[in-house]
Amino acid sequence: MNRHINNRKFITFFTLTYLSIVGVTQTDTTIKIIDTISFNNEKVFVYNNKTWEFSNVIEKINYLKTTADTSAVFKKNWSKLIFPYPYNENIPDSVYISFNNEYDTFNIPYKNVLTSGFGYRTSGFHKGIDIRLAKGTKVKAAFNGKVRYARFNNGGYGNLVIIRHFNGLETYYAHLSKILVEEDEIIQSGKVIGLGGKTGVEWSGTHLHFEFRYRDLAFDPFKIISLEKGCLLKDDVMLMKSDFHPSLQNQRKYHRIKSGETLSHLARKYGTSTSKILKLNKNLSVNSILKIDQRIRVR
Ligand SMILES: [Zn+2]
Repeated sequence: MNRHINNRKFITFFTLTYLSIVGVTQTDTTIKIIDTISFNNEKVFVYNNKTWEFSNVIEKINYLKTTADTSAVFKKNWSKLIFPYPYNENIPDSVYISFNNEYDTFNIPYKNVLTSGFGYRTSGFHKGIDIRLAKGTKVKAAFNGKVRYARFNNGGYGNLVIIRHFNGLETYYAHLSKILVEEDEIIQSGKVIGLGGKTGVEWSGTHLHFEFRYRDLAFDPFKIISLEKGCLLKDDVMLMKSDFHPSLQNQRKYHRIKSGETLSHLARKYGTSTSKILKLNKNLSVNSILKIDQRIRVR
């Protein structure tokens, strides 16, 4: 079980960050705070260059930057590769993630109709959810975090942004028409990270492909969020090994043949190939006639 967040750490970083902001503004010779105004129970800093800012906004982003600099989450397996973790290594039996802290304010990237869910479909395994959206629609970051990947991906994702979050999860935002963030940028939850489109899937309608991953392991976003309500389901989640994308697990799986099904149907349904299914079932050959209710191993 992994617990990523420690409240005492949060308070320490907050205090340090607040002090460092005060320090910076006192020594900076170009921009100075010339007034502090109270507005709707919040502080507004007024600068000598006639700009102003809510104090909590800069405190928050500085706090995130300081914390991200020292957090192991953004050091270990931090890479420009789309999948930075060694394949199939150390899949945890369970992962506990708490969202009940300052790092994890959630924003739904875009709230609209679900057009495809997580799991097997005829074209193979779908590792995320598809949300319908019009081209150019603003897509928001789900949590605070750091952008690990912001490029065109020719593996089918098109323009793709991957953000790693303080809780160790990564979120994927695919098929964007435009990317509006840079790699290594620290971003706040709700920031617009790109515009919706259909890059990488020109044959389809415009949609946002949204994934949740833990150590490259995709799992169903609906374990964590509600799309209709646009919020987190709970303040925490316990993910089990069986929640992760099953092709990464050496679990056997069997299928009972229904009327009209062939090996190529099964191959498509389970994201495998007929030759792999034949290898798993020594009693079968390409020309075997499948019987209704026959048990076939597919993994
Ligand atoms: Zn998709």
